[in-house]
Amino acid sequence: MNFDVVVIGGGPAGYPAAIRAAQNKLSVACVDEWKNFDGSYAFGGTCLNAGCIPSKALLESSELFLRAKEEFAIHGIKLGDITLDLAAMQKRRASIVKTMTGGILALFKSNGVVGMQGHGRLLPGNQVEVTAADGTTLVLTAKDVVIATGSTPIRLKTVPHDGVRIVDSWNALEFDAVPKRLGVIGAGVIGLELGSVWRRLGSEVTILEAAPQLLPMADQTIAKEALRHFKKLGLDIKLGATVSGATVKGDAVEVEYADAKGAGKLTVDKLVVAVGRRPFTAGLLAEGTEVGVDARGFITVDEHCRTNVAHVWAVGDVVRGPMLAHKGKEEGVMVADRIAGKAADVNYKVIPAVIYTAPEIAWVGQTEEEVKASGRAYKVGSFPFAASGRARAMEAAQGSTKIISAVDNDDILGVHIIGPMAGELIGEAVLAMEYSASTEDLQRTIHAHPTLSEALHEASLAVDKRAIDAINR
Ligand SMILES: Cc1cc2nc3c(=O)[nH]c(=O)nc-3n(C[C@H](O)[C@H](O)[C@H](O)COP(=O)(O)OP(=O)(O)OC[C@H]3O[C@@H](n4cnc5c(N)ncnc54)[C@H](O)[C@@H]3O)c2cc1C
Repeated sequence: MNFDVVVIGGGPAGYPAAIRAAQNKLSVACVDEWKNFDGSYAFGGTCLNAGCIPSKALLESSELFLRAKEEFAIHGIKLGDITLDLAAMQKRRASIVKTMTGGILALFKSNGVVGMQGHGRLLPGNQVEVTAADGTTLVLTAKDVVIATGSTPIRLKTVPHDGVRIVDSWNALEFDAVPKRLGVIGAGVIGLELGSVWRRLGSEVTILEAAPQLLPMADQTIAKEALRHFKKLGLDIKLGATVSGATVKGDAVEVEYADAKGAGKLTVDKLVVAVGRRPFTAGLLAEGTEVGVDARGFITVDEHCRTNVAHVWAVGDVVRGPMLAHKGKEEGVMVADRIAGKAADVNYKVIPAVIYTAPEIAWVGQTEEEVKASGRAYKVGSFPFAASGRARAMEAAQGSTKIISAVDNDDILGVHIIGPMAGELIGEAVLAMEYSASTEDLQRTIHAHPTLSEALHEASLAVDKRAIDAINR
């Protein structure tokens, strides 16, 4: 079979590439091998099946559970005994995933993309061999091939995964009972989100993090505030704690670690290993394809996601850059447009990051530490949600918004938010930075009252010590 474009991988990088290529009037096939625990195939990759979507479904449900228990009474809403029906919560999570992954098939159909389920292997000469579940193979020929095979959780040799007691993030999204004691190795985005879910549902959660500080990639004012909130939730986060091994003993897992206090032991019912992800290229490149792979396993690409082989491209988690669904999506769309001869770029300087904890954390651009290190003169404005009428009305007046601006030309260099709906609020900052708005442009933009977005407006005013609703310092 001949196609203009064959995409290997149907996650958030691959399926948008396939759809955009079809919108560009190219003939397209998208091959994906994702298999769920029940044996069913599904498009959508890690994000839809085992990442962004199921985690957000559980974060939402668990947050509502906690709020019903702790917050409704403050609003004057009295409920009887609040009990957890985890089976119903998990059913809802699974049904959202099913609807979303099924939606991709509908999008493929309406755009004329041929979706194929099976393993894709790149052969020399831009051919792709597809092996279906029953072992039958088919060879596709393509003018252009897009590799979007994503990533897989990093496993630790000394912490042997068994999928029952010692698990990865996917297993941890599908627990059918709340573990009494949960250990998490890694206080990154995934570890914090999963730790929050199970803590809210009743687990005693201990997170072991090797780094001496929390969220080293985030602005440290925000990270320090986040640590306070996580402690308040009851997450026991041990920083500078290096795990040397874990052993399943009966129904429990014994974890050995060392931190500043010396050797430590932790006994838990489940242990989640969330120490990061690595690019996934197993069985992908047949001999003679000559696609470059770096020492860490990433497929090497230029700024337009071109590999060293003509007409072979790679996008998403399998290439350099942050492992985020929206970064992969934009790369997929860019590549599909470039294949069709159109101009397209990804602005790697303006990629938002969000952590969906409570309060949420979101940022775009440089941290204060990065700006300071660059030597550029800067000014900072911040605004606390405690002074936001909307946040107060929502009983969510925690956190703040911080804007870092350049002294020389008033450019917005970074925006960092910890607070209610931070992931939604950051969109305005992304747009402002994408269109090179100055801090003054934000100051002169009318924001509806009372909204959370006023925090961004006031923070921009605070940059020049002109905030109206907070004391300027
Ligand atoms: C718990 C968790 C929560 C997350 N939350 C967020 C979030 O809130 N926001 C966010 O932006 N990111 C989040 N991420 C990260 C996000 O899921 C990834 O960045 C994103 O899925 C990467 O997209 P991708 O298309 O590159 O790869 P993937 O989503 O991994 O998809 C790759 C697909 O290719 C298939 N494949 C691989 N090799 C082959 C082959 N040889 N032949 C055929 N098919 C193949 C795989 O089976 C898979 O279906 C989260 C991740 C996890 C684990």
